[in-house]
Amino acid sequence: SKLLGIETSCDDTGCAIVDSDRNILGEYLQSQQQIHLDFGGIIPPVARDLHKQNIDNVVTQALQQAQVSLNDLDAIAVTVKPGLPLSLLVGMNYAKELSKKSLKPLIPIHHMEAHALTARLVDHNLQLPFLVLLLSGGHCLLAIVKKVNEFLLLGQSIDDAPGEALDKAARRLQLKNMKEFRNCCGGQAIEKAALKGDPRAIDLGTFMTNYKDCNFSYSGLKNAIRSQILKSEQKHELKGDEIIPEVFDLCASIQYAITKHICTRVQRAIEFINRTQLLPDTNRTLVVSGGVASNMFIRKHLNLVCEEENFKLIVPPPKLCTDNGIMIAWNGIEKFNEHIDIFSHLDLDKIDIQSKEPLGKNISQQ
Ligand code: ATP
Ligand code: FE
Repeated sequence: SKLLGIETSCDDTGCAIVDSDRNILGEYLQSQQQIHLDFGGIIPPVARDLHKQNIDNVVTQALQQAQVSLNDLDAIAVTVKPGLPLSLLVGMNYAKELSKKSLKPLIPIHHMEAHALTARLVDHNLQLPFLVLLLSGGHCLLAIVKKVNEFLLLGQSIDDAPGEALDKAARRLQLKNMKEFRNCCGGQAIEKAALKGDPRAIDLGTFMTNYKDCNFSYSGLKNAIRSQILKSEQKHELKGDEIIPEVFDLCASIQYAITKHICTRVQRAIEFINRTQLLPDTNRTLVVSGGVASNMFIRKHLNLVCEEENFKLIVPPPKLCTDNGIMIAWNGIEKFNEHIDIFSHLDLDKIDIQSKEPLGKNISQQ
């Protein structure tokens, strides 16, 4: 089968055509990152207008590259949850129009499920169930993917997401005023800056060490970063727009603290799995995805944890970890093959967006 996927849940307009043999036939991604960086954050109506401006071109480019017409498709997949409502609406309405025009069915997609399942596009040997860790701008969670549409949530962030913490830290450190980081998102800027610093230079603390669950927390770290910057600004008597001299050490220490927290929580999840036998011995695989998973320092340390715990680590290439249309098309293929959530062009009224939607059942609700 052959599917077209559309992604507009946040600030990227993406489209791709993927087939069930795992070929990416065509893809196009228009990022709004630079515009939002200039605003210092995403302004939803601005994101909506840019999606509206770009979506027609994005879809046309993907179809052209794939050399397929709407007629050749088996279905259309589109992200409908979770995300910014104004952004989601643009993609969903566009996909509905395509469905009406082509008489092809529409498959609604959960953005986080798509992030998790991307690994099966990359690795055709990856069998369900597996453990997944999603680290992104809006989420941080550990789950077991039992079936294409059945997820068991082991833990999630009780406050912020790691990408959000990195983006905020980068803004506080004014990294985008440094030429070398001007075109980077917060996470990329901190990863690059960290290469020039000492990860043990500044102790930002450890978090949730007394909790035996698999949840995450980043608000303590956020506060520790803020007070470090204030302290340094006072010490060196800096004016508002001057960059602190410890910037590289602080970036390295931030990356280190986040990595340590993530690794500890993953270790907890694995201990839990060992105790409860939630995964068969043949399926000891950890998939890591979401934008923050493109961070090489985090990858390296997760790999050490996995080696220690006899888990196989699978991380899709950075391009597939951040938001894209490919993962939506692939999730569409997975659903199409299993006859899940396929809506005829006559039933489009049954599909709507949802800004919030948890990923699967919580372990305690089982
Ligand atoms: P969600 O998927 O939760 O809706 P999102 O769509 O904003 O959130 P992604 O596109 O998956 O998230 O990821 C974007 C986030 O990833 C940003 O916060 C960005 O700072 C972070 N990020 C990107 N590259 C890196 C990197 N190399 N290291 C760390 N973080 C990174
Ligand atoms: Fe995402």
